[in-house]
Amino acid sequence: MEIKRGIPVSPGVAIGPALVVDTEGIRIPRRYIDKSKISDEVERLRYALRLAVADAKVNQQAITEKVGKQYGAIFAAHALLIEDPELIREIEQLITQKAHGAEYAVSRTMRRHAKALAALNQPIFSQRSTDLIDIEKSILRHLVGEHGDPLQGLDVPAIILAHDLTPSQTANLDPKYVYAFATEAGGKASHTAIMAGVLEIPAVVGLGRFLMDVSGGDEVIIDGNRGVVILNPDEETRERHLVLQKQFGFFAKRLDELRTLPAQTLDGTRLLLLGNIEFPQESSHCNDRGADGVGLYRTEFLYLNKTEDPNESEQFEAYMSVLRSIGPQKEVVIRTLDLGADKLFHRDDLQMDEKNPFLGMRSVRLCLRNMALFKTQLRAILRASPFGNLCIMFPMVSTLMELRQCRMILADVKEELEEEKIDFNRKIPIGTMIEVPSAALMAEELAKEVDFFSIGTNDLIQYTLAADRTNEHVASLYNAGDPSVLRLIDHVLRAAAKSRIDVCVCGEMSGDPVYTILLVGLGLRQLSMTPQCIPEIKKIIRSISIDEAKQIAQDALRFETARDVNNFLREQTRRILPEVVVN
Ligand code: PEP
Ligand code: MG
Repeated sequence: MEIKRGIPVSPGVAIGPALVVDTEGIRIPRRYIDKSKISDEVERLRYALRLAVADAKVNQQAITEKVGKQYGAIFAAHALLIEDPELIREIEQLITQKAHGAEYAVSRTMRRHAKALAALNQPIFSQRSTDLIDIEKSILRHLVGEHGDPLQGLDVPAIILAHDLTPSQTANLDPKYVYAFATEAGGKASHTAIMAGVLEIPAVVGLGRFLMDVSGGDEVIIDGNRGVVILNPDEETRERHLVLQKQFGFFAKRLDELRTLPAQTLDGTRLLLLGNIEFPQESSHCNDRGADGVGLYRTEFLYLNKTEDPNESEQFEAYMSVLRSIGPQKEVVIRTLDLGADKLFHRDDLQMDEKNPFLGMRSVRLCLRNMALFKTQLRAILRASPFGNLCIMFPMVSTLMELRQCRMILADVKEELEEEKIDFNRKIPIGTMIEVPSAALMAEELAKEVDFFSIGTNDLIQYTLAADRTNEHVASLYNAGDPSVLRLIDHVLRAAAKSRIDVCVCGEMSGDPVYTILLVGLGLRQLSMTPQCIPEIKKIIRSISIDEAKQIAQDALRFETARDVNNFLREQTRRILPEVVVN
């Protein structure tokens, strides 16, 4: 049994067989085969070994011709290793004696040796370790064939273990079969992490290198509440996690009973708890969890995994379907396209080759440079606006000029629709996200030109602390409790209050129970989050009074480090509601 610790990003406990997707996207499938197929399996293995040897020899010749014999020799050594009788015997024994599939047998054997060599911590052996992993891949490629996306067509339950998953790969996971996932890379507020919450798949990211320690089919436990991954658990650990799984289910069920109750503090102050969605069909998750509306619709997901731009009527239909599901009264905030950075899409012509994509041509910057893209979406939103309580929100605004440009284009589009005699809500509320420190600092000026703010803490944290939200190596810096972040939020709220405009928080911070009391105490009355977080946050809100929250927020603002802030907030939350899990 091995225990790994990473960053918890989506709650729940899952136990199941690993499906390993390595850095090259090779999928290592299930572990066991039917006993009657053992000799066929050995044959399949031998055939793959012969092909891998042939590959190594071809490489040896090609490299020798290109750069010389001494480099070609690396592949000659690969061929010798693949033909090594000891190694083959070891692999075949796993098939003949334990009925393991050839892929598992190869992967288990190679990784065991590779790990032992790497542990010697000497350059010569780490090179050998890398060679073994290379060889493993070469054999596996012949066993499993070349797959496009290794996650396509998954039809058996699995726990996905991968180096990393893109947001669109994650969006396509089928929760029916994917019990959970864990990745070596990634941070707390990456879009991959957010998608896990949306799909309600327990997930842990940022584990660092661990794929060498595991093979497809190994039993794995993922504890998405605590950020723990356990490989090949012993019986006692397995039993304990089955109990935790049940407890989590009970807690979630009990929270479900709050669905129809308002998010109201003990002294009767009513808050709005809204849902974040990426796809129109998620509106039903908002309804299921008793959301007061949609506080953030990430419309860029309409563009991901597509080979063509969705046209105006497709976008209109998507917005209409959200409105139909949420109802005409409840607020639906449509955020204009936030493409770029980790949300890559099919339009190579619009995506630059950038060294720092999170600081580059992303989001509203990309829209302002590509008027057709922007206007198509604004037309679709405006056309849907008479059918519900729709608001428009611009993402990643970093200057007042940018906001003004957005408003001017919106005014142009309104004029076009007027001319075409197409109906729209002339008074549609306009908001801006506050997710760049420059916008937070200029909040007073921005507040005079919009109807509402929504604080995007996912980006605000990364830009304030200069810590990439997707990078596990700086995950300890990326912290919502950092005093710098709290002070910016406080500043934004004060600025908004002067102009009497509403403020919402729609980053992951709003669905994290550690920060609920703080946010309420700072003055927030709207929080938008992944729908599955709503019941727990509501429970906390219903357990506090505004005065108590204010006092806690004031005390939290006095601390000088994120650690002190977080410890204090955890303590206060546990004091008020002991059963809430606060990491
Ligand atoms: C944010 O940055 O907090 C936010 C809600 O936007 P996204 O996570 O889509 O960047
Ligand atoms: Mg953002």
